[in-house]
Amino acid sequence: MLTLGCGGVFLTPMELRKDPITRSWVITGDDVTEQAPRVEAACRFCPESNMSPQQIASMPGIDGTPWSARAVVHPNPLYRIEGEPARRGEGIYDRMRSVGAHELLLENPRHDRHVWIASDAEIEQFLILVAQRIQDLKRDARFKYVSVFKNYGANAGQEFEHPNAELTATTFVPRRVLYELRAGRDYFAAKERCVFCDIIAQEINQNVRMLEVRGDFVALCPYAPRVPYETWLLPRTHEAAFERFVLSRSGNLRDLAALLRRTLHRIRTVTEEFHLVLHTSPNTLHQSDSLNYWKTIDEDYHWHIEILPIVSAKAKSYTFKEVYYSPVTSETAVKRLREAKVEA
Ligand SMILES: [Zn+2]
Ligand SMILES: [Zn+2]
Ligand SMILES: [Zn+2]
Repeated sequence: MLTLGCGGVFLTPMELRKDPITRSWVITGDDVTEQAPRVEAACRFCPESNMSPQQIASMPGIDGTPWSARAVVHPNPLYRIEGEPARRGEGIYDRMRSVGAHELLLENPRHDRHVWIASDAEIEQFLILVAQRIQDLKRDARFKYVSVFKNYGANAGQEFEHPNAELTATTFVPRRVLYELRAGRDYFAAKERCVFCDIIAQEINQNVRMLEVRGDFVALCPYAPRVPYETWLLPRTHEAAFERFVLSRSGNLRDLAALLRRTLHRIRTVTEEFHLVLHTSPNTLHQSDSLNYWKTIDEDYHWHIEILPIVSAKAKSYTFKEVYYSPVTSETAVKRLREAKVEA
């Protein structure tokens, strides 16, 4: 086991462990980075900064800006691009290295121009960048899934002030997406229809949970929400992969941009803090042996955006809900617990 000494305590670097019961992967390790957010004099993500992390991709500027949206290497990555996952067993347990990609997606060159006040043309550029990054990372056969999410607000786990979302490419499919994929496959096997298309049809029909219809897109509050004011954005036309939808220009992206902007604006009248996550199809370069959802995936899955507002103070970053995250390993925890002074 890889360990490094630190003041006599052995710390484990970030790694992936599989829960043998739920079959969910978790990311764990002893996080030694500072917990308190650093107060920076100048923003390193603004175009004029000379401290910017390495650029991965960018979209051309609008009205003289050097870029309109930009992907950079995440300064404190949870996943690292080099090497093989080196999956191995240890008795009944499975573990692998946290190989993957972790990028920061800058939504706008302007420091104060968040999605809810940006122009639809700017948001459209950002959506194209997101699609390009997903498509690019799906070419890497090591990665089974590419997640894109945004944490806004201190209780959401926001790390940087500059308008940003994050992207992770992982060697496994995150738990929540896996549930959706299995459910979509099972529903399709029984009915030969997409469950998301059926939800959209019923919601449009019933018209009691629809927030807004704009062109080919709908915003609705799901029947069984996980948090108050949970909102989903979906295309009315069936499509499993967001990136294919965007890059083939099969819908009017300007409508999606406007719907996203308007929906966030609405949510901000209730609370400023939220998690946002894009759910698209997994990397089908991988033919899964244990799950055969790949066969009907283009028909049974339907990309969408979920917004999870934070109305109570107690919450964790969405990433950490999607992929359980523990900043203290069980080895370190048990040591500390054993050392704790307790009465006999
Ligand atoms: Zn900035
Ligand atoms: Zn559908
Ligand atoms: Zn979803």
